Amino acid sequence: MMTINAQGYATQSATTELIPFKFERRDPRPSDVVIEILYCGVCHSDIHSARNEWGGTQYPFVPGHEIVGRVTAVGNKVGKFKVGDLAGVGCLVDSCCSCHSCNDGLEQYCDNGFTGTYGSEDKIGGTPHKMTLGGYSDKITVDERFVLRIPANLDLAAAAPLLCAGITTYSPLKHWKVGVGQKVGIIGLGGLGHMGVKLAHAMGAHVVMITTSPEKGQDAKKLGADEVLLSKNADAMKAAENSFDFLLNTIPVGHDVDPYMALLKRDATMVVVGAVEPLTEVSGVPFIFRRRSMAGSLIGGLPETQEMLDFCGIHNITCDIEMVNMKDINKAYDRTVKGDVKYRFVIDMASLKS
Ligand SMILES: [Zn+2]
Ligand SMILES: [Zn+2]
Repeated sequence: MMTINAQGYATQSATTELIPFKFERRDPRPSDVVIEILYCGVCHSDIHSARNEWGGTQYPFVPGHEIVGRVTAVGNKVGKFKVGDLAGVGCLVDSCCSCHSCNDGLEQYCDNGFTGTYGSEDKIGGTPHKMTLGGYSDKITVDERFVLRIPANLDLAAAAPLLCAGITTYSPLKHWKVGVGQKVGIIGLGGLGHMGVKLAHAMGAHVVMITTSPEKGQDAKKLGADEVLLSKNADAMKAAENSFDFLLNTIPVGHDVDPYMALLKRDATMVVVGAVEPLTEVSGVPFIFRRRSMAGSLIGGLPETQEMLDFCGIHNITCDIEMVNMKDINKAYDRTVKGDVKYRFVIDMASLKS
């Protein structure tokens, strides 16, 4: 078996820090692209998984699913990429490619289970590792179906978090047809929320930042929000009832959704993208009165992820980032958990070699 030597950072248990780790990537199959990783974003999911907070993490564990780099080799059946091209990899590296969802380009909802970029059973194989290993590393081998083109005008480091935070917010905004003439609320200002503000603004909506924090409200205005609604202000929340066409809820923990549901107009929808955990008891009242809906949304499929990147290229949208060296990743994790980053850390992978 031929393999490619790779190096990166891994955790060896739920309670130990990320440390240097040598491992192997598969040699490219005919449909594979090999990418030299230049930048990788730090998503909160990386931390949850590294610390086994969602269960099921196997070690050694290499996080990272916001990958931007340059193609260094391609298989002989690859059509979309050639050596030297910019390339990106997001949260998915494989799926069954034959079910109803995959045929619709919605690989994230694959009926047979998608393969995550890290921490999933590697169904393609080609290395000694049973699980996929992520982007905190110098290279990766991925089937071209799961590789994205990166618009050349974007800052490459700041484009990396588009692969998760960008598509997670773009997909529901598009699916629920957010656009000109609509009043759209973005709830919560973190990695996801800041992209929600930028994207909804670029789609032409009237954007309202809904937050507990006046400071975050001011920050959101600099990102493109037209108004701020402070959710702790009961009078302001009451006055805003029945006025929103769409709400994108990025709060990352379980919370009471009733006060937000009441903000929706008749027939409008709130989409939850942040809280991958139980929400507190939900009243039927806001749903029944005014026929409102609540829905969820998970990242996006490959065609829509490319559409999002192209949209960001046209509108010159990237994430606001803070660059970090690989050796400082554990400090970056602690700061991310505290919410002390505007709005995403991105690892400069050149620092892995120094
Ligand atoms: Zn992510
Ligand atoms: Zn499928």
